[in-house]
Amino acid sequence: MSALRISILGAGAMGSLFGGLLAEAGHVVELIDVNPVQIAAVREHGLLIRNDAGERRLTLAIMPPQEATTQPDWLIVFTKAMHTQGALESARHLIGPQTRLLSLQNGLGNAEKLMTFADASRIAIGMTTVPADLVAPGEVLSHGQSKTRAVMLDGSRDAALDALAAALNAAGLPCTVDPDAVVAIWEKVAFNVALNSLCGVTQRTVGGLGSAAEGRRLAHAVASEVLAVAQAEGLAVLPERTHATIDHALDHHGGHKPSMLQDLLAKRPTEIETLNGAVVRIAEKHGIAVARTEALYALVKMAEQSP
Ligand code: NAD
Repeated sequence: MSALRISILGAGAMGSLFGGLLAEAGHVVELIDVNPVQIAAVREHGLLIRNDAGERRLTLAIMPPQEATTQPDWLIVFTKAMHTQGALESARHLIGPQTRLLSLQNGLGNAEKLMTFADASRIAIGMTTVPADLVAPGEVLSHGQSKTRAVMLDGSRDAALDALAAALNAAGLPCTVDPDAVVAIWEKVAFNVALNSLCGVTQRTVGGLGSAAEGRRLAHAVASEVLAVAQAEGLAVLPERTHATIDHALDHHGGHKPSMLQDLLAKRPTEIETLNGAVVRIAEKHGIAVARTEALYALVKMAEQSP
């Protein structure tokens, strides 16, 4: 397999992990970020990856957008959703005529943001279950089995996406090119809207939510609202699959703090707009009531504004 040129826009937990594993597999990777602490740590000590394959330190190129010059084969966006637009604006000079863009970010509306920077025929979107934590600047932790699914936005079969999927597979990040990737995105949105916003508002871990009968019932009721909106969008989501995933998380992810809870505790903005916010707006278009999702949206917005 010939080496791909891959730039990662947003080199936090996910971006560092994907970039690091792709570099380890022999691809030419550049990490692009605006956090001077992360940039300094990776420049001085390399990137430390700890996953099921062990612990190792990799030397990787990392820079702020204005210092990057490579127009890569793939620009993979891994900022939090509310930073996508600004990040792409500062990386516009890196999007060459052949550069393809990929978003594996959580939530809805990622494709629309990418479409203001490239034609749909050069954009892929997808969903990943890879978990990653930036435990310290320059140190990323991941574990367990995962899958990533991606599809070109215009539905075309694209040799470049096949090549990227092959590169991810070889790097230990199982990936399939899947026409149903949008279904997978919505099923994960249902999961995240339920667990992220409920854990955020109640300040409970996933296990803490699962230990309360009311928490379990509410999580499933919220997910059902989101899945009804997905069905109105014409997507063949499988409600029983999502409910089973939620039960599994409630039973087995005891101490996990979803990112929205972590963000609220750290007084950072959350991805609520691309989760509950986006669902509420799409539901309105279809005339569907999503009272619980809407209430959680308002509660998280209020929590974000707390001093
Ligand atoms: P993160 O906060 O760890 O990383 C985001 C990075 O983007 C940060 O390093 C930040 O400095 C950088 N950034 C912010 N503004 C930027 C800009 N203008 N230009 C360049 N970089 C900028 O977030 P994460 O956990 O890696 O999540 C990234 C995305 O992946 C989110 O949409 C998240 O929901 C999704 N996701 C996360 C996980 C996970 O386990 N962490 C799993 C699946 C999906």
